[in-house]
Amino acid sequence: MITCENLIGGEWVNGRSGKIEVKSPITGKTLGFATVPESAQIEQAIVSASLAQKSWAKLPIKERSKVLFQFRQILLRDQDKISELKSSECGKTMEEARAGLMKGIEVLEFALAIQNLDLGGKVEVSRGVTGEFKREPLGVVANITPFNFPAMVPMWTIPIALALGNAYVWKPSDKTPLTAMLIGNALKEAGLPAGLLTILHGGESTVNAIIDHPLVKAIGFVGSTKIAKIVYQRGTNLGKRVLALGGAKNHIILLPDANPELSGMGISDSFTGCAGQRCMAASVLLAVGQVDQHIQKIVQRASSLELGKTMGAIITASQVEFLKGAIDRAEKAGAKIILDGRKQKVPAHFSDGNWLGPTILDHTAIGSETATHELFGPILSIVRCQDLSEALEIENSVEYGNACSVFTSSGAMADRVVREASTGMVGVNIGVPVPREPFSFGGINASKFGHGDITGHLSLDFWSNTKKITTKWEAQSESNWMS
Ligand code: NAD
Repeated sequence: MITCENLIGGEWVNGRSGKIEVKSPITGKTLGFATVPESAQIEQAIVSASLAQKSWAKLPIKERSKVLFQFRQILLRDQDKISELKSSECGKTMEEARAGLMKGIEVLEFALAIQNLDLGGKVEVSRGVTGEFKREPLGVVANITPFNFPAMVPMWTIPIALALGNAYVWKPSDKTPLTAMLIGNALKEAGLPAGLLTILHGGESTVNAIIDHPLVKAIGFVGSTKIAKIVYQRGTNLGKRVLALGGAKNHIILLPDANPELSGMGISDSFTGCAGQRCMAASVLLAVGQVDQHIQKIVQRASSLELGKTMGAIITASQVEFLKGAIDRAEKAGAKIILDGRKQKVPAHFSDGNWLGPTILDHTAIGSETATHELFGPILSIVRCQDLSEALEIENSVEYGNACSVFTSSGAMADRVVREASTGMVGVNIGVPVPREPFSFGGINASKFGHGDITGHLSLDFWSNTKKITTKWEAQSESNWMS
């Protein structure tokens, strides 16, 4: 049984405000408990973060980056251990758990490259006068993360915020808090000075205490749209910088000229990967014209998956019930179930876990629950469309705006989707169009509140302040308006 402590001032300490049980979605067994800090412990944590940040900010970025380089080596060394714990607490297959960690390491590699970017510059703006631009850390920054990527989503921000000279306060998901211990230990072993990484567990009250603390200058959030809005409003009401990424309802537009193999594989893997619990998963297939042979390929590939082996579990039993209810309601409303995950076998040794097999609903009605609401499970709703214009109209009408992909062999059709999709990320013949570094990650509409993106070049402005310096040392013969 694991007891998950809080990282405060460089020490692991038990929270004194109760504990949260952590169950494995795969086995249904209790893995351990996360202890929740009381307000005095949160206060102590943030004050020690602020003290530690002052010395960290004085180090040249090349010295800070040396710690991050060690961090990378330790994560690579410990990848099996980290992936196993991630898999057991959030239900992913080992392959998925490892892939998430590797994507996190890719962001870390981007953070290591910041030291070689042109972070500032100096220009003689008029005779004897120079203008200069430089980046400075914010101080203490915080991030609140969701259950579905216990290592990757935190790793989107930890290395970048630390490289830029900030102290980082992390509130992991209350459903998957355990992996945070391994990441915390890896950074400690890498030589990160005490206080620069703080880990605080809990739910709403811990989050509110972090947001409200006057020493916390910026808040990143990744999770559902409902909570993203709450966090965004609370933080910005206090005049703080907030970037809150929310939920999604991603569409794939399938055109008849698409390569059947490529689309079958890409679309099936997109809605079944991580058991559909990722904000970039395909959720609605906008099937344009005659694409039945492509749909057959999707069904074929999805039905070959085995629960507990090639497909992971659903985070909680209540979420399985919600998903099954959504399938029932769609069926009653006239959708045709062409692959029914409710009937899929679960290996006997996993029978207490939370499972749902891949489910495909054909002829789903436009505007219905499964076609418009985020479900967060392995369900693909097919909406039949007459042409690309109708498909784009449906895509544009949904409140979210994370991802949209098109499968086609026509460059002109693909170009039109790239131009007209109402999302921050678009894929062409790619089922999960997550931008690879150095391109930044972020949606639009109800999938993101705040400005900029959470990774890549666009995140540098979020995790740092810019300072503009104008200097003159000598009187010039010719005076102008700058004198
Ligand atoms: P969630 O919104 O329930 O929880 C996210 C975080 O907020 C957790 O740390 C949780 O403890 C905390 N929290 C919960 N209730 C709170 C409250 N009332 N006040 C303050 N904090 C609170 O999300 P989840 O279920 O963990 O994750 C799934 C959701 O995250 C999905 O909607 C998914 O689309 C979204 N997600 C989005 C992205 C993205 O990049 N846009 C990435 C991953 C997940």
